[in-house]
Amino acid sequence: MESLDRRFQYKIPQRYEESITIGTPVKIPFGKGNRVIKGYVVGISDVPKWDTDKMKYITEIEKRGISASEQLLTLAYWIKEKYGSTFNEAIRTVLPVKKSVKSVENRIISLKLDKDKAKSVLAELEGKKNAAARVRLLKELIDREYVYFSEVKSRINISMQTVNSLLAAGVINIDNERVYRNPVNSESCADEPDRDVINLNSEQQMVVSSIVNDYQSGKRDTHLIHGVTGSGKTEVYMSIMDYVISQGKQVIMLIPEIALTYQTVNRFYKRFGDRVSILNSRMSAGERFDQYERASKGEIDIIIGPRSALFVPFERLGLIVIDEEHEDSYKSEKPPKYHAREVAIKRAELSGAMVILGSATPSIDSYYKSELPENCPDRFIRHELNYRAVSQGLPLVNVVDMREEFAAKNYSMFSNELRTSIGECLSRREQIILFINRRGFLGFVSCRSCGQVIKCPHCDISLTIHNVKENGNASRNGSGQAQKMICHYCGYEQPMIKQCPSCESKYIGGFGIGTQQVEQMLVNTFPGIRVLRMDADTTSGKEGHSNILKQFAAHEADVLLGTQMIVKGHDYPLVTLVGVLAADLSLNMNDYRAAEKTFELLVQASGRAGRGQKPGKVVIQTYQPDNYAIERAAKQDYRSFYEQEIMYRRLMKYPPCAGMMSVFVAGVEDDEVYKIISKASHVAEECIKSGVKATVIGPSRHPVSRVNDRYRYIMYIKGENVSDLIDIRNCIDDAIGDCCSEKECVVQYDMT
Ligand code: ADP
Ligand code: ZN
Ligand code: ZN
Repeated sequence: MESLDRRFQYKIPQRYEESITIGTPVKIPFGKGNRVIKGYVVGISDVPKWDTDKMKYITEIEKRGISASEQLLTLAYWIKEKYGSTFNEAIRTVLPVKKSVKSVENRIISLKLDKDKAKSVLAELEGKKNAAARVRLLKELIDREYVYFSEVKSRINISMQTVNSLLAAGVINIDNERVYRNPVNSESCADEPDRDVINLNSEQQMVVSSIVNDYQSGKRDTHLIHGVTGSGKTEVYMSIMDYVISQGKQVIMLIPEIALTYQTVNRFYKRFGDRVSILNSRMSAGERFDQYERASKGEIDIIIGPRSALFVPFERLGLIVIDEEHEDSYKSEKPPKYHAREVAIKRAELSGAMVILGSATPSIDSYYKSELPENCPDRFIRHELNYRAVSQGLPLVNVVDMREEFAAKNYSMFSNELRTSIGECLSRREQIILFINRRGFLGFVSCRSCGQVIKCPHCDISLTIHNVKENGNASRNGSGQAQKMICHYCGYEQPMIKQCPSCESKYIGGFGIGTQQVEQMLVNTFPGIRVLRMDADTTSGKEGHSNILKQFAAHEADVLLGTQMIVKGHDYPLVTLVGVLAADLSLNMNDYRAAEKTFELLVQASGRAGRGQKPGKVVIQTYQPDNYAIERAAKQDYRSFYEQEIMYRRLMKYPPCAGMMSVFVAGVEDDEVYKIISKASHVAEECIKSGVKATVIGPSRHPVSRVNDRYRYIMYIKGENVSDLIDIRNCIDDAIGDCCSEKECVVQYDMT
């Protein structure tokens, strides 16, 4: 690791000019005797640091055959360079922490009784006084089958006494020995693997053979499978995995954590047996480490997990699949702010593996790459699946204009159409998903009468309402608080308006709608209706989320009501109605991806309807029925949405048509933070004057302007090339780095 921090310059032989990138392992002559040693490319430059006549050439590229741990180190270096984190942060992301757990604490507690008996013991204990700790432990065990004492001790506050009393009662077992356990092979997946494979339809078959052919011929392009919801993408992945595994290779399958349900995992288990394992964030450090060790020993062929599964130390990695590749959860929120898609491509390159991305609504980024000309090295190869594999086809979608409902004096949050549809669905004893779009909800200003949303005149991004406290300098209104509207890209602000600028209606203001209100409304409108609400309040328990979904799958409720978390790839054949409340809310988030995210949410939500034998129906309520994201989503027309959206990105120079980076600074002293970010902006302007092609937007206060008494500022830099942005970032970092640590300010960079 240490040697990675020493840099030397070498010349690149002409034959390697195209193929060398940052992170490429190479052989180099080293020292007086020109001993050939291994090194990694950590930067490429036109500027020689010494005499080029004396500079040595790289001997050769070592494309394949470096060990998993070397790959991961190289990856860490690449991540640091690309995303602007420290090397430490990158290493911590990439290498699992080996936790030495004291052996006495490393005990594994498991159920001795079968689950039903354990449940009746639990019921007994719940009636008793002073049994709370035992109840907690037992619940945990019924959920998970086994736990490490070290892990539950503090999390659910259990003492060794609790454990001993359950042990004495013959309810549990304690093992001291470290046994590898396969988290998949739990009771829920206990059915024997059946290797009856579904016969792929011709569309699926075509995709599989085209990708497998490429694989056979040694091509390692990135493939994008654009398949409508329910088109059988997962079956396609599994067939390709079958082939890759038959070649002695290993597979990483990324799934958004929220979709990592037993339903999904069971499908893989049934096909591949216990050569499959999973990783998830609920696992203890010990459990994770077990999985890493099993992977590194070659005991598993497939690992399924969220983005961190990318760093599993497979020695024979052959394929990385990223399902639902458009998901935001693939982007890390803390430094290094890496994107799993980009890191996957890099890791695949280091290990000679292939990457397959799949989605019903590909990210604009990925689709853009699939449209690049054939000889572009960044190009993705696109495959389409246009038909649903089993059901009646895509659902019927109705868009309801809420301005008309308002004009017709229906002030309720349900349109007539939605209310009638819910009633019909209930009388057929079918199920309903109601989805409240609260994505990016940040107090934008809109008119209930005409639907107008107030936007920044410079950025075409919604303005956000801010309350100004006493020390602010805006004038106050009667409530003791003044309000103003701010653009979070450029900092433009104007006083709060009282009247709609386009229709003069007074029904203008912030928009608010919550899951609890909707639940109440449902219960009032449809007496006896059984509602499951899924939001941050109801899913706080460890298994809260999957319990709700299980109940819904068992038809213990008529309606599943929630925010975007219910939209993810679940498959409920009885759901025939999907309602979307406030479809346009996400159009108003202060982000250039607002339309993309709205389109994606609506198509994914619609995709939940009619997945069984019965046809589905979708009702989308909106104030902006003419907006292209809503209109195209209702038609499920990705292609035409993409064409419109990419025009906008081109025009506004937003990614993927240009690079965009944010610089974020936070600290205790408002003035100091502002000084630092101003300096950053000054440095960026200097770079631009010296010829780097970029523009600076801001700096301005962050949408959440203060957290934990720390003031936050943000600025954006747009540039034609990401590499220019990286140059600017390095200049900024050199200029403000010391000052930041002196003033205890935090600086973070984000390539968006
Ligand atoms: P996606 O991942 O594209 O949403 P899935 O792979 O989950 O689609 O498939 C949707 C449903 O269709 C699943 O229940 C799956 O078992 C079924 N399915 C997929 N392909 C076929 C096929 N060729 N024949 C029959 N059923 C299929
Ligand atoms: Zn209006
Ligand atoms: Zn602006």
